Amino acid sequence: MKTLKNYINGVWVDSRSRAYLDVVDPGSGEMLSRVPAGCAEDIHDAAAAADAAQRAWRNVPPEQRIQHLFTMKRILEEHADEIAALCTQESGKTRAESKAEIVRAVENIEVACGIPMLMQGEFSEDVAQGVDEFVIRQPLGVGACIAPFNFPVMISFWFFPYAVATGNAYIVKPSEKVPGTMTRIVELFETAGLPKGVLNLVHGGKETVDAILTHDAIKAISFVGSTKVARYVYSKGTEHGKRVQAQGGAKNALVVMPDADVETTTRIIADSVYGCAGQRCLAASTIILVGGAKEVFRDRLVEAARKRTTCYGLDASAQMGAVITRESCTRIEAIIEDAGRKGATILVDGRAKAVPGHAKGNFIFPTVIENVPPDADAATTEIFGPVMNLMYVATLAEAIAVINGGRYGNAACLFTRNGSAARTFRHDALAGNIGVNIGVPAPMAFFPFSGWKESFFGDLHGQAKHAVEFFTQTKVVVERWYDEWTRTF
Ligand code: NAD
Repeated sequence: MKTLKNYINGVWVDSRSRAYLDVVDPGSGEMLSRVPAGCAEDIHDAAAAADAAQRAWRNVPPEQRIQHLFTMKRILEEHADEIAALCTQESGKTRAESKAEIVRAVENIEVACGIPMLMQGEFSEDVAQGVDEFVIRQPLGVGACIAPFNFPVMISFWFFPYAVATGNAYIVKPSEKVPGTMTRIVELFETAGLPKGVLNLVHGGKETVDAILTHDAIKAISFVGSTKVARYVYSKGTEHGKRVQAQGGAKNALVVMPDADVETTTRIIADSVYGCAGQRCLAASTIILVGGAKEVFRDRLVEAARKRTTCYGLDASAQMGAVITRESCTRIEAIIEDAGRKGATILVDGRAKAVPGHAKGNFIFPTVIENVPPDADAATTEIFGPVMNLMYVATLAEAIAVINGGRYGNAACLFTRNGSAARTFRHDALAGNIGVNIGVPAPMAFFPFSGWKESFFGDLHGQAKHAVEFFTQTKVVVERWYDEWTRTF
């Protein structure tokens, strides 16, 4: 049984906590490794190493810093099969889904390779006679990210390539549920030649996170996870003077107009709801069918749910894998039960279904419910499982009102052939990521990954120019050179 270590100052070291948690394959129930439960001392060690390394790293020209990123990109691409298999074993998602998140990670490295230009400053000549004024961007020092379980590869890459490229040193704290994937990636990255201490990896849970939130040397914190913890991380981190961006949970609605293309829309909705077994922050959860769309789509969506193949993520036929833990299964089943008890109709029930050969896996099959009453958990809570909640309204305005009345604002999508409806939706829906005829509006790496309301706490988002701003501080210089002081010719 592999016992995972921390990577601090270029060396693999045991956690000082000496307490360990089991890492279990959600699809098979097999134990994969043991991960340190973590402690404040591990963060103290990593932050001290990162702080020391950063002082030299910030003086390395950006053009040279990004050479390491080019190597990392190549390493990820060359080892994509191995990393995807590991990611699937730890997270339960399908191999294709794991591969897709590696592509997203690579994209972020590629964008961060533009840092020499992206972090350029601004210059004005002669703001007064003989006086020039300019802005330069400098790194903050040490940054850290705290990642969730559902994208073991991609999410750390929303942050650390930009942090490192802009001259910061970094600490990655993976989720304790899927810690082996980033551990393997950091092992592979050892050949990328980064100076020791520039990229560190520390495992752990709450105690480790609390140490990140309070350590003096850590200046920038990126969090992705549930809203409850995001709110806590944002408030405690900012209280301790950190720059914090905290992405939280979601309850995304997808609106279908009667004129939407039938085949494509049905396929895209099913992919959005059931991809990664519903464990995506951009997954559609509530499908709002407007007017005549109910007649066109209801039965087709039910059929799409029934047809979807659920099995172990590494099986070639898997269209949907397991959910992360047994507790997750129980929680999702309880939400379906509660909806049924309160009057919803369960059109397709994915509970208590087994995958042959994987009796210990955490499987819930695609589920469809309709007419969920507003007091049921399924109406308002993030389910984070393969459950489609069908809702029927008469107009687009009503659909937008449903979206805008919710506490989350991560994503909202519309399916239509009508440009005017699309424009109204884009303009009025209160969500940070909007999809028009797109089911999972995941921004490319050269756009920020947005999020509104209780789905995001902070100002600057991950990815792209926002990430460059987040990991740098601006210095304004006003400069005058008197001829008579300096002229030597
Ligand atoms: P989580 O909040 O349980 O854990 C996220 C991280 O926080 C982990 O690294 C964990 O170790 C740490 N953590 C957990 N409890 C803590 C506590 N009490 N104090 C300090 N740290 C703590 O989230 P999760 O279950 O791993 O991930 C699923 C959630 O992430 C969902 O709500 C999903 O919507 C959200 N998510 C959001 C986005 C986004 O972009 N908005 C992206 C992916 C996932």
